[in-house]
Amino acid sequence: MSDTSNLIAGRTGPWEIVLGLEVHAQVASNAKLFSGAAVGAGAPPNSQVSLVDAAMPGMLPVINRHCVEQAVRTGLGLNAQINLKSHFDRKNYFYPDLPQGYQISQFKHPVVGEGEIVVEHDDGSTFTVGIERLHLEQDAGKSLHDQDPGATYVDLNRAGTALMEIVSRPDMRSSAQAAAYVKKLRTILVYLGSCDGDMEKGNLRADVNVSVRRPGEGLGTRCEIKNVNSYRYIQAAIEYEARRQIEILEDGGKIDQETRLFDPGKGETRPMRSKEEAHDYRYFPDPDLLPLELDPAWVKRIRDSLPELPDAKKARLQSQYGLSAYDAGVLISEQDKADFYEAAVKGRDPKLTANWVTNDLAARLSAAGLAFSESPFGPEVIAELTGLIEENVISSKIAKDVFERMWAGEGGPRQIVETQGLQQVSDTGALEAIIDRLIAANPGQAEAVKTRPQAIGWFVGQVMKETGGKANPGAINQLLRAKLGG
Ligand code: MN
Repeated sequence: MSDTSNLIAGRTGPWEIVLGLEVHAQVASNAKLFSGAAVGAGAPPNSQVSLVDAAMPGMLPVINRHCVEQAVRTGLGLNAQINLKSHFDRKNYFYPDLPQGYQISQFKHPVVGEGEIVVEHDDGSTFTVGIERLHLEQDAGKSLHDQDPGATYVDLNRAGTALMEIVSRPDMRSSAQAAAYVKKLRTILVYLGSCDGDMEKGNLRADVNVSVRRPGEGLGTRCEIKNVNSYRYIQAAIEYEARRQIEILEDGGKIDQETRLFDPGKGETRPMRSKEEAHDYRYFPDPDLLPLELDPAWVKRIRDSLPELPDAKKARLQSQYGLSAYDAGVLISEQDKADFYEAAVKGRDPKLTANWVTNDLAARLSAAGLAFSESPFGPEVIAELTGLIEENVISSKIAKDVFERMWAGEGGPRQIVETQGLQQVSDTGALEAIIDRLIAANPGQAEAVKTRPQAIGWFVGQVMKETGGKANPGAINQLLRAKLGG
């Protein structure tokens, strides 16, 4: 943690940012944490609300086993301790979208304890972020301020939805690290199937704790920026907030511990409320719920059913296909992408296939706003295209053209090559005739090759031009060298 590369230069000397994140991830589940009401965006307001969610008197919460399983699965995926005994507490506060007057959460004894995540920077280097805990809690409803000029409405569809709050250690030192951490955490959750990771819908959002200090000093006073739901906003909020704190401290002021909101339009944070302490919530064990006791055999069954996770998949792609850490990292960043690759690479060159999947296809899909699972052509089609390159039927350059035609819906790779006559010309007789003509017409260039062998490139270019890029480069080079001695 004494890495000086992340220091920020202030007016009076260098500062270090200290960041810890609390990520709220909505549990992938058809029903809420303590009721059978449906979960899902898009339903008409207050259509997914049971009597429990509406906090009618005398209603009793009943824990949803599936949500607990998802939390345990996530804990195992974060290499974290699973607490066989945990319990639920009431976190008391008043808000119109919280009819119970308290949120059922886990305070002293969360279901998941300490773990850690290894995070990659873009350059491939890694750092480790400690996980302090993961607990289950209810989400609140939503106040609607934009339905009526004189009134606020409340929609309780979201009330009682299961959240996993994943609390990190203050182990991050730059906005880039914080974004990379959330990215990695999201990838793991999506692999596990415990959260869909949809940040736009707010199904995964981060509270960012920001403080600054002089290098080597103890922790400074922190501010918490609530509910930031994109990587870009996380970075922008941290950058702004760190600067704000540094300015105050350099002017001799002190930081007030408070909760702030990030305004993406203005690119700044502003105060929301002064930060409450845990004791302000008057936590106490929820008397409606028994302690949560997990059967070790059940936990083991969940552990045995875990899918291959990103780190393991990355290591396997590197060793099985000889891919670089970078290529493997790009492929595993989305499960669909890695699956697509593994289906396309069968019997094909691993590096060539990785290039097509992570560059050409990925760029096209992303521009069209499509996921790999929504690709207009499957892995077998990419395999057909790379097969044509490997068999020297087409050059890599022509393959790009074929790919564009595939995307435009002109047909499959082989079909396009045949109907457009794009096969590489490897017929030495035809190439030789072109080369002889070129040498005869350009004696000066031919002479130059004798003293400057790289001048042969000019002839290669000319042959390519005459054949519309379809000449086999290997064959041209061989013929030219034989004739010009380059
Ligand atoms: Mn929370």
